[in-house]
Amino acid sequence: MKASSAAATVERVSPPALTDLHGVGDALAARLTRLGVHTLIDLLFVLPLRYQDRTRVQPMGALLSGTHAVVEGEILLSELVFRRRRQLLVRLGDGSGSITLRFFHFSQAQRETLRRGSRLRCHGEVRRGPLGLEIVHPEYRNIAAIGEPLPQTLTPIYPSTDGLPQGRLRALVQRAFGALQRLPVPDLLPSDVLAPLQLPALRPALEFMHQPPVGTSLAELASGRHPAQRRLAFEELLAHQLSLLELRRATRREMALPLTDTTGLQEALLASLPFRLTGAQARVRSEIDTDLLLDQPMARLVQGDVGCGKTAVAALAAARAIGSGQQVALMAPTELLTEQHARSLARWFDPLGVRVVLLTGSLAARSRRNVAGAIASGEAQLVVGTHALFQNSLQFHSLALAIIDEQHRFGVQQRMALREKATAAGRMPHQLIMTATPIPRTLAMTAYADLDVSVIDELPPGRTPVRTVVVSEERRAEVVERIHQHCRQGRQAYWVCALIEESEELHYQAAEESAAALAEALPQLRVGLVHGRMPPKQKEAVMHAFTRGEIHVLVATTVIEVGVDVPNASIIVIENAERLGLAQLHQLRGRTGRGSYESSCVLLYRAPLSEMARARLAAIRETNDGFEIARRDLELRGAGELLGTRQTGLAQLRVADLVRDADLLKEVQAVAQRMLRDYPDRVAPLIARWVGTGERYGRVG
Ligand code: ADP
Ligand code: MG
Repeated sequence: MKASSAAATVERVSPPALTDLHGVGDALAARLTRLGVHTLIDLLFVLPLRYQDRTRVQPMGALLSGTHAVVEGEILLSELVFRRRRQLLVRLGDGSGSITLRFFHFSQAQRETLRRGSRLRCHGEVRRGPLGLEIVHPEYRNIAAIGEPLPQTLTPIYPSTDGLPQGRLRALVQRAFGALQRLPVPDLLPSDVLAPLQLPALRPALEFMHQPPVGTSLAELASGRHPAQRRLAFEELLAHQLSLLELRRATRREMALPLTDTTGLQEALLASLPFRLTGAQARVRSEIDTDLLLDQPMARLVQGDVGCGKTAVAALAAARAIGSGQQVALMAPTELLTEQHARSLARWFDPLGVRVVLLTGSLAARSRRNVAGAIASGEAQLVVGTHALFQNSLQFHSLALAIIDEQHRFGVQQRMALREKATAAGRMPHQLIMTATPIPRTLAMTAYADLDVSVIDELPPGRTPVRTVVVSEERRAEVVERIHQHCRQGRQAYWVCALIEESEELHYQAAEESAAALAEALPQLRVGLVHGRMPPKQKEAVMHAFTRGEIHVLVATTVIEVGVDVPNASIIVIENAERLGLAQLHQLRGRTGRGSYESSCVLLYRAPLSEMARARLAAIRETNDGFEIARRDLELRGAGELLGTRQTGLAQLRVADLVRDADLLKEVQAVAQRMLRDYPDRVAPLIARWVGTGERYGRVG
């Protein structure tokens, strides 16, 4: 009952329009709409990124370089000078001292007001300049007399965007705030939900966020732990959680084909695999099988560290679908990886009479037509491809299972698009998503709330952990010699060139140079090169040669980061390792340690190292455990990066921070369930307020 009466309040008062605000015309309203701000109330949810204290005037005699300050005084001197660029220098004094204001851009009108004798109050960052302390482009205004009243609140800094500068946005939000003082801003969290959380109600929280009173500690605000911030962070996380749960519910309402595998293809594949499944693989396989027997679509994420054997699990799921007379699509993020998957899956499936095809963007038109034809007729049973699989023109005969490898590289939208492929027939394909970016459980339950999660937490037997060393670039010759010894014992090596230049062109060049230098230093060995710019045929030929052991040292750009699997390659050297993130380093290192040989990873770095780079290299040296690495990555970089920027709206939170507010997540999950059960009418308004409608899933990348 509570729910419906609150919903009635929400609907009865139609929200004031943006144009109700004095000074907001159609053009500005349209610009705001593009930012997702549709009503006056939405403006209140544009939240400050940080704050400045402008409530006190500082005597100029006591200013410190590197701080933000408000000063006021009289203009002693104003002159136009030409030092490389035309600029206006204004000398402002207050009796205790003086400071220079420097303007590179200024109008004639500004020059008029910045005349000797005028009084100014200004704000900006104080720096040491050639003439003593100065502020470049201060915010300023003319005042009639020294000592006019100062603001009574801290000054919020909003996320300004193109065409909507800070000052304008701040004024708008503050005015909306004033206009709404007497109007209801519905608090969507019911009081019985809110009370045990001991968080403030919505209005005081918003009031505080937009106008924190004088005396509020900037440090506390920066820490994000103020109850008002926590309240809004909670609501924001809740809204995201609800939107993912809604997505899951929507999936559950769809129909899918139960995959009974009457021909027993899965058992046949299992019997023919060259190894026995690990306990973890077997468990995850049966979790998947249970899902696939239902007439609603599976939406399951398989998490597992690099090398744990996700491909075999995916192949068994594929076999169940194909054995049920249906088609399977497997999508991977790079051409290299799709080629490898197509190769190893064909090795497993060919003997069983299953037709595997490869579809990438770089197929020649003729072969593409042939492949597309085989997919449309159903003759192609397992289709491996890149995002070329999304093309509208591509028609499947009967797609019943979509497998997505290395999911963190794809957006939610892309997943949705592949899923749509089979809805024409009224049945939605089952979805299996695989990721090697393991993340802590509570975070996984937040980020992947739309999915069921399985974890492969065991490596195949006989693996020896990779030994990792961090070596300065100056000892490169020793490293080259080590590669030499290593390959003479019949092993192979990767030599990875991390991006060191902004330009891709230079990146490939660097890889080519490294390859040439290595070939010269190691005349007894065969050195190959693979990078993203090579024609696919050539790339495939090189990878093939490396897989067959015909190339000793494979020099590569980070294209080999995901998924490439050559067990005999048991050493990897990563050049400019300091440039790469933790997850990427772990992925690259995971190319080794796949056979039973002792493997090693050499991280070559160029001094000097930044704090961050030092911390990353230490972390990767100290542990091989993907979960531990993910935890440290989370600490170092924050959650947005870890989840992949396009992964979910969670990467662009307004107030919440998945790392800082991790302690809220459990409660958020519990409250989300309660909202769905007891207050279903508030779910949609909450999602609309924080997540937006449609936009997240509407577009296909
Ligand atoms: P990832 O989980 O990183 O995708 P892969 O599927 O590429 O890992 O598997 C890594 C390697 O381990 C492959 O060579 C694969 O054939 C092998 N493998 C997978 N499962 C097992 C197992 N149960 N026993 C032995 N080797 C296995
Ligand atoms: Mg893989």
